[in-house]
Amino acid sequence: SSLQAQYSAKRTKSASFFKEADSVIAGGVNGNLRFFQPFPMTFQKAYGAWLVDLDGNHYVDYLLSYGSLLLGHGHSVVRQALEQVWEDQGTSSFGATHPLELEMSKEIKELYPGFERLRFTNSGLEATLFALRLALAFTGKTHIAKFEGHYHGSHDHVLVSVNPELNQAGSPETPQAVPESYGIPDYYLQHTIILPFNDWPACERILTSMKERIGAVILEPMQAGYIAADPRFVVNLRDLTEKLGMVLIFDEVKTGFRVSLGGAQAFYGVQPDLTALGKVVGGGFPIGVVGGKQEILDMCSPGRSPKREEVVFHSGTFNGNPVSLAAGLATIRYLKQPGKFESIVNRTNELRKGIESLAQSFEVPIRTIGAGTIFNVLAIEGDVSNYRDLSRNRKDWRLALDYLLMDNGVYSKPLNRFSMSDAHGPKEIQATLEAFEKSFAAFKA
Ligand code: PLP
Repeated sequence: SSLQAQYSAKRTKSASFFKEADSVIAGGVNGNLRFFQPFPMTFQKAYGAWLVDLDGNHYVDYLLSYGSLLLGHGHSVVRQALEQVWEDQGTSSFGATHPLELEMSKEIKELYPGFERLRFTNSGLEATLFALRLALAFTGKTHIAKFEGHYHGSHDHVLVSVNPELNQAGSPETPQAVPESYGIPDYYLQHTIILPFNDWPACERILTSMKERIGAVILEPMQAGYIAADPRFVVNLRDLTEKLGMVLIFDEVKTGFRVSLGGAQAFYGVQPDLTALGKVVGGGFPIGVVGGKQEILDMCSPGRSPKREEVVFHSGTFNGNPVSLAAGLATIRYLKQPGKFESIVNRTNELRKGIESLAQSFEVPIRTIGAGTIFNVLAIEGDVSNYRDLSRNRKDWRLALDYLLMDNGVYSKPLNRFSMSDAHGPKEIQATLEAFEKSFAAFKA
């Protein structure tokens, strides 16, 4: 399209870089979601809320490393923490326990009081994988249940959902599970039960009918970080999973520290059995955390039994790596200062309001949906409470808006949600609203 041609014309260095990258790196990207047409741009630099691409274009960054950078790029408290940890222990966790692990655990527990015990991993993927293994071991059951369109990282058990072509997805009462990637063993398709989000009668029926087999229910309490669960739905799910002997797992990799500092569980006042954290908690470095009930996490205590097969195995060379812990600790301590987090939420709301009032004055049917420091910009009318509702989003509109926004110096990656950071101040908000204004104007033209 002409928008893509315009995109290419302003990014000739990124274009040739991508061509060369594509000759070495599979598909030119280290993660499928990083690709978009005609080619993703390459960034050379970042500071605060800003990114600079190879061609020297500046952008206010709303991708923020998929939401990890709640303080923005290169924040001084993170930098100081990294210098200190390098001074103290290099980058080594010694392959053993070290004091930062305990310090960080206590800091997390203050915000997540349900974490009677926890373990560190290196990514959100590893956290959900390990949480599910613990849950199946604890219950002795064979199946897990997850929700349509919820993302829990790129491992086999959770790369199962319903067909995005909704006429092939089955009814919400009987969602039709399909793999979301080639190469998923059939086993996982058979052992992953799909539930419709925010549809309590259907969930109750499915879970009750399979109560002997389902050992874990995992969900994003806010789908994709921005579609809220109905509070009654969360309470019902908590009660029923407890009654049926299923481990309830909140995947708060996105929502943790972002919807509120204590995540969606603080927001809803509902405590799951296990929680997976990631992203923000590593201050921009690789991390994951599994936390929750002692009786479940104790399943992995190596001192528990001399027989290896009676212990849930969990390992990782880089688990508890001091670089991630130091950066994460500095980030959490900074955010815990009075008013800091609230101020990021206030700026997020200010930006959302600005976008919506511009959309209204240009009569563009665009709105924002979200909570705390995350939101999405959708061309959709009516209720949005699950994956099926999202099919009403005019993706072509949003995509056109994305190219116009990039053209005007705002980046969230096409079709991606928006995350805010402490570095997004009045100047960045103003620059963003000006970009929206120009984009809406071009949209109408
Ligand atoms: N769970 C959720 C809700 C996520 O948003 C993500 C990543 O986007 C993951 C799990 C996987 O985390 P990671 O990319 O660190 O493996």
